[in-house]
Amino acid sequence: MTALGDRLAARIARFGPITVADYMAEALTDPEAGYYMTGDPFGAGGDFVTAPEVSQMFGELIGLWCADTWARMGAPDPVLLVELGPGRGTLMADALRALRVTPDCRAALRPHLVEISPALGARQRQTLAAGVDASWHERLDRVPEGPLLVIANEFFDALPIRQFERRPEGWCERLVALGPGGKGLAFALGPPSAQAQILIPATLRAAPAGAVVEVSAPGIAIAGEIGRRLAAHGGAALIVDYGHAAPRTGATLQAVRRHAAHDVLAEPGSADLTAHVDFAALARAATEAGARAFGPVDQGELLEALGIGARAEALRGSASPAEAATVDAARHRLTDGAEMGTLFKALALSHPDLGAPAGFG
Ligand code: SAH
Repeated sequence: MTALGDRLAARIARFGPITVADYMAEALTDPEAGYYMTGDPFGAGGDFVTAPEVSQMFGELIGLWCADTWARMGAPDPVLLVELGPGRGTLMADALRALRVTPDCRAALRPHLVEISPALGARQRQTLAAGVDASWHERLDRVPEGPLLVIANEFFDALPIRQFERRPEGWCERLVALGPGGKGLAFALGPPSAQAQILIPATLRAAPAGAVVEVSAPGIAIAGEIGRRLAAHGGAALIVDYGHAAPRTGATLQAVRRHAAHDVLAEPGSADLTAHVDFAALARAATEAGARAFGPVDQGELLEALGIGARAEALRGSASPAEAATVDAARHRLTDGAEMGTLFKALALSHPDLGAPAGFG
């Protein structure tokens, strides 16, 4: 057990079991010991590899998606380019570099990075070239108002979820309690929950006993805030993550450490915790706030539509045989159905008058 685990156990002993969402929030973002707050978990030497860390092509194509959307918006100047959860800053750096081909768009863009982790914020400052006019915020609601483009890769899967399990007596919330004999942490089930009746999507409420439903209140709130801003000021958002297009049952909360599955409760703060994203819930929140939703489409489909084939060809043109093989492998990994191509999906949100963004038509 980690020091954070001991702290959580002491809190549970005193005040009772906590929700899975509270546990996730503490394990990921406790200021002293949260998983994201202290280190750099990305890359081959870390715990997991994300699409921008696989290849520069990912960020470059998203940069060009931004330029295309900006032109459809009527080329507003200035326009905010907001990235949620930028990790090492690789996606933003690659996107801004690709935008050198559209200097008017690049000149209009004001990068705003929303990052809760001071350690990763410092890392992002290193990654972005000196002279990049970026601002950092801990939360989306601190970003100034205005026309905006929003990008988020593997951000929503890191937001806390609550879990509800259907029992014969009703929907009960899964909680984190003390383990047997008061040692360690273990999952437990609360009494039938009145909140569950409100939070669980209507289509799932009659699921059979044993079914588990996950709900991310912070994810829904952030999608609603994006939708409100898009409807009020114009713009579009591109949300890429792994998850499902329609609400469904099934527990997906998982811990990952050094590229392998890890026990969710064993060592809080030392492993990444994620859950699959319910894209339908995000789309509904943004739509209710006045935006339009498109997709989700498979990541492979989106990247092919945005021109990963041509981009890979261009990179191969100036590459050694070994580098060319790396480009091919990266394209395969990002787009193939057996790799990241269909597990990962992209949802677009936009001002209702903007029409379908590139890749969603
Ligand atoms: N987009 C990056 C990193 C994904 S990991 C990539 O694709 O490589 C998740 C990122 O979201 C990290 O930067 C993490 O610190 C940040 N994050 C997690 N929870 C957050 C929260 N509640 N608010 C803001 N940022 C958060």
